[in-house]
Amino acid sequence: MFATLSDRLTATFKSLRGKGRLTEADVDATVREIRRALLDADVALPVVRDFTTRIRERATGAEVVGHLNPAQQVVKIVNEELVGILGGETRRLRFAKNPPTVIMLAGLQGAGKTTLAGKLGRWLKGNGNRPLLVACDLQRPNAVNQLQITGERAGVDVFAPEPGNGVGDPVSVAERGIEHAKRHHYDVVVVDTAGRTGVDAEMMQQAIDIRAAVRPDEVLFVLDAMIGQDAVATAEAFRDGVGFDGVVLTKLDGDARGGAALSVRHVTGQPVMFASTGEKLDDFELFHPDRMASRILD
Ligand code: GDP
Repeated sequence: MFATLSDRLTATFKSLRGKGRLTEADVDATVREIRRALLDADVALPVVRDFTTRIRERATGAEVVGHLNPAQQVVKIVNEELVGILGGETRRLRFAKNPPTVIMLAGLQGAGKTTLAGKLGRWLKGNGNRPLLVACDLQRPNAVNQLQITGERAGVDVFAPEPGNGVGDPVSVAERGIEHAKRHHYDVVVVDTAGRTGVDAEMMQQAIDIRAAVRPDEVLFVLDAMIGQDAVATAEAFRDGVGFDGVVLTKLDGDARGGAALSVRHVTGQPVMFASTGEKLDDFELFHPDRMASRILD
């Protein structure tokens, strides 16, 4: 992830080394290179435009100031702007005043929701919470079973529909799962929902119905960073459909070019909160915009 983007930005900065003052031509050339590198990394066009406009404004006329030469100043500006498009501050989970806190997961099939439910459950448990996973993906054969296995591995309890008892109705399962959590004093409920391979009206309506029934404290949109340019359209469809409060980027361990990670905050207005970086339960972390920016500019 980000390897190509990282290399190209580094090469661009290298060409500025040794300059005592940046001419307009230097800034033009630099901004052009940054623009190309971002577009080749699948960053959405409006994000690229905004980003390069700000870099141009801030870099124009950069000269030796204090201990920073112009090249270092440009790196600093790009770093600050990268942190900005990645969301600035780390956005942490908001817990309900009256437990249980309800976290609903939404996203396309294969995005990594079920895997994430296990990771989040384990992470919450590690932070002293008592989480319950609720299996509301009744669309995909075996999804309930997969959540049960994931929960077991994570050491986190799972609420799954009993055969015959409203088994086909995810809204009813979600409601009963939350009732179960209240009765048994779980303090966080993670609701796993169904996703199709593409955005369709029926899937979106189901997510909207679950949201209306359980009134989650946080809706997390789970986004596969590997889907490249489709990521932005998918994120917009979920924002306009079920709506969400934060994003979880999955498969950041893959060789995706980074466009989804760099675009989703700016395009949807919602922060990336967690990053999933592998198939193992521990491959999961809070998303820190400043660390991600440093990784890109490393
Ligand atoms: P769901 O349909 O959204 O519930 O997706 P799943 O949780 O079943 O995940 C789909 C596939 O992606 C599975 O094979 C997971 O092991 C895999 N997966 C999930 N998260 C990650 C990740 O962060 N990195 C990698 N490499 N694979 C992941």
